[in-house]
Amino acid sequence: MIPYGRQDINQADIDAVIETLRSDWLTQGPAVPAFEKSVADYCGAQYALAVNSATSALHLACLALGVGKNDLVWTSPITFVASANCALYCGADVDFVDIDAQTYNMSVEALRTKLINAEKTGRLPKVVIPVHFAGQSCEMKAIKALADQYGFQIIEDASHAIGGRYLNEPIGLCRYADITIFSFHPVKIITTAEGGMALTNNPELAQRMALLRSHGITRDAKQMTENHGAWYYQQQDLGFNYRMTDMQAALGLSQMQRLDDFILKRHAIAQRYTQQLSELPINTPWQHPDTFSAYHLYPIRINNRKSVFDKLRSADIGVNVHYIPVHTQPYYQNLGFKIGDFPIAEAYYQEAISLPMYPTLTETQQDLVIDLLHKALF
Ligand SMILES: *Cc1c(COP(=O)(O)O)cnc(C)c1O
Repeated sequence: MIPYGRQDINQADIDAVIETLRSDWLTQGPAVPAFEKSVADYCGAQYALAVNSATSALHLACLALGVGKNDLVWTSPITFVASANCALYCGADVDFVDIDAQTYNMSVEALRTKLINAEKTGRLPKVVIPVHFAGQSCEMKAIKALADQYGFQIIEDASHAIGGRYLNEPIGLCRYADITIFSFHPVKIITTAEGGMALTNNPELAQRMALLRSHGITRDAKQMTENHGAWYYQQQDLGFNYRMTDMQAALGLSQMQRLDDFILKRHAIAQRYTQQLSELPINTPWQHPDTFSAYHLYPIRINNRKSVFDKLRSADIGVNVHYIPVHTQPYYQNLGFKIGDFPIAEAYYQEAISLPMYPTLTETQQDLVIDLLHKALF
């Protein structure tokens, strides 16, 4: 089976994890801050908080920005459900902004129109969560300008996008976002098995997320209202156990050494697909000139999607579909969303297939996928 995505683990990764297993710390040792510093330095952000998943990072980000009951959070319908669920965890309401037909990212025009209408009805979003779909950045400069005009805050869901760039700067720099989050699930760009990270340049947001990551407990004497001795800690809020282990962080730190290499390989694969599929009735992913994608996914659009998908699957190619529009999920339809609410996202979904895309995909394997696509179409 050739999957749509998979991790690349080498001997150095294995050695790093084993070294941690033999060390004094399986969790909360030196690897977590070392991994955080590595990602923060790579991205140019001030603060980075490693957590046990991107879902947890999204939840902490919403809480740190004060999302709560009666607040409104907007995101893209073409994303994994976690981008929307994080607002519901906080008791807030979710709404969606339709996608751009070319990039499949949140449409800036649709966002502007929705904001104009929301201002009239008096219910503007508190937070907007643009998702860098497939690893390509959203148009953050325009979204930030709207944030300044309408007073919302921005969480970038960059789960697909570590190693990507926007206007020649690393995604994760947080120039246009209050908080950026990454996922380190095995199909993503680098992995810690399960894992995620939240980056910010705001010290208060960083402190708040650090507190909530670990039960709402602080051991920092400067933050405590009193101090009984060296054993003392204070629970100051109701937090969670969202911590990353040292074993995971050691793997992540080791993977960071090869991040740029992973991205170059993904670009080489994308370039080959784009060239060799150019003769077929297929839409290959369009790239905005302001972006350098991390190419987590290589989503194509095709008319007779289901038959092509089934033919590839029966040939043991693990193609997939990213994503089923979140508002059409039964849980979201029960909240009042309907088929037809976000037509561009729904039209995209009818035609989407994600082709295999990961650094260890060989040219022979890729040729097989391309050959099967030719056969499936003619
Ligand atoms: C994978 C993913 C998440 C969730 O990541 P986890 O680390 O599995 O929690 C969130 N948003 C998007 C867009 C994703 O692709």
